[in-house]
Amino acid sequence: MAISIHPLVDHGVKHGNASFSGGTLTCKCASQPVTVSLGANVAFDHVCGCTKCWKPSGALFSLVAVVGKDKVKVTANEQKLKIVDESAVIQRHACTGCGVHMYGRIEKKDHAFYGFDFVHPELFKEQGWAHPEFAAFVSSIIESGFPPARMGEVRARLKELGLEPYDCLSPALMDAIATHAAKQKGVRPA
Ligand SMILES: [Zn+2]
Ligand SMILES: [Zn+2]
Repeated sequence: MAISIHPLVDHGVKHGNASFSGGTLTCKCASQPVTVSLGANVAFDHVCGCTKCWKPSGALFSLVAVVGKDKVKVTANEQKLKIVDESAVIQRHACTGCGVHMYGRIEKKDHAFYGFDFVHPELFKEQGWAHPEFAAFVSSIIESGFPPARMGEVRARLKELGLEPYDCLSPALMDAIATHAAKQKGVRPA
């Protein structure tokens, strides 16, 4: 049986539109859905294998991207949102009706990604958002019960889809984290 990564990439990664400039995320509730307006396109879109990100039922990976937190605004039914785990670095605001995570915010000001919110672009009503470019935390799907012996199939399928598999974040994001850590330690990269 073919490996299903996520319903929005299983039939090939649909490329985004460079002029996309934001839209509205809507949760899955049939009535009184939570809506979040994004005033910009998303960046660093990727599929993620971690156990914390929200994913649709049956999907091995989530689809997640970042956007500047000043571009994120809850526009309806904010009272339904609740933080999943207050102790987590990313404060994931989930809908208490349907369980969908609407945005994840980093409140730690000294964090490398402070200022960015994590969102799930599949919740956009609009089309054209930046497409996923890589796969993060691939080995973590084992923590959700995926058989380790089949990881080769998963990595091969991700490569076939053009989603380079990484067991942490992509090199660009890992470099950003390390650059931030170097600055905090007073190390100046030459
Ligand atoms: Zn909902
Ligand atoms: Zn994740």
